[in-house]
Amino acid sequence: MNPGAAIELAGVSKWFSNFQVLTDVSLTVARGERIVVCGPSGSGKSTMIRCINRLEQHQSGRIIVDGTELTGDIGRIDTVRREVGMVFQQFNLFPHLTVLENCMLAPVFVKGIPRGEAEHIAMQYLLRVRIPEHAHKYPRELSGGQQQRVAIARALCMMPKIMLFDEPTSALDPEMVKEVLDTMLALADEGMTMICVTHEMGFARQAADRVVFMDGGRIVEMNTPAEFFDHPQHERARHFLGQIL
Ligand code: ADP
Ligand code: MG
Repeated sequence: MNPGAAIELAGVSKWFSNFQVLTDVSLTVARGERIVVCGPSGSGKSTMIRCINRLEQHQSGRIIVDGTELTGDIGRIDTVRREVGMVFQQFNLFPHLTVLENCMLAPVFVKGIPRGEAEHIAMQYLLRVRIPEHAHKYPRELSGGQQQRVAIARALCMMPKIMLFDEPTSALDPEMVKEVLDTMLALADEGMTMICVTHEMGFARQAADRVVFMDGGRIVEMNTPAEFFDHPQHERARHFLGQIL
């Protein structure tokens, strides 16, 4: 194991009843590293990143996040969840709360930050994702791209060390994809440790240190974006790239 790593998965396997969804997945992510995960639908991408913040539990192998091993210990899971922000395909904003309230909720109720301070932090991140003017609106009043940028700001308000993205642009109309990718690129430039499940190859080429290709619950290939896209080693990776490029 590598104590300096931001995230380490070593020989991780997981089953949904008798269906094996992850098989012997090993991946070490250095601090500040940006990883793009791609692969066909059903290959286990979401399950892998959901195991990293314990939305799913692995059954064998080890997962260590920021020095803490994920076990059944609830205290440790809370510690890890504070360090790891997650952004989903379907935004998952609370519809009955304003944008600002969405961003203040976890800092106030999970971290116990005073409301005034939480509001100040939230406004700073809404400024960063360039939507401070929508702070008092409800999610339904915003476009999909704006809602996704709120979801990113909301995650950042917890000041995570690691950000996980699960197909953050897949539910967006094409004209809104760029504004979300630009937000993610800015975060990458600031040195955030990121794992992004995405098929946005422009983003991968620009931001990723490594691309991980999954198929059938395994990591089949792992390489720099230039090597992966220009010289995929495995037939399954070539086939996949042939379909999406
Ligand atoms: P991906 O994100 O690459 O599309 P997933 O990790 O979502 O893949 O799913 C991998 C496989 O595990 C799929 O066959 C999916 O149907 C199955 N799966 C995902 N979640 C569950 C679950 N909660 N229960 C049973 N099977 C699941
Ligand atoms: Mg998925």
